[in-house]
Amino acid sequence: MTFIIIAFFWISLVIIFALAAKDKGHPFQSYFLLGLFFSPIVSFMVLLVCGENKEELRIRNIKNINSKICPFCDNEIRVKATVCQYCCRDLPNIPTTTDETKN
Ligand SMILES: [Zn+2]
Repeated sequence: MTFIIIAFFWISLVIIFALAAKDKGHPFQSYFLLGLFFSPIVSFMVLLVCGENKEELRIRNIKNINSKICPFCDNEIRVKATVCQYCCRDLPNIPTTTDETKN
């Protein structure tokens, strides 16, 4: 009985930290497996050390607001833009981040 309770709390903590990691832009599966096989404490420590994955959060944000990244100045611009509003360069037809499902 004690084992079941410990296992329940173990898995709960693993899921909680994996969700926290996902919220900060890290892959849920990696932190879930890390916490499951090592310890939820380990995944929590790794999350603390790594902090927020700003690049991933930025990409998620871009998917939400339907914009893309200018290949010349690396700023966010509208998907339909033909000229970058930041660097004023003509934009080629860049595949947007939402096209990655074609793989
Ligand atoms: Zn630009």
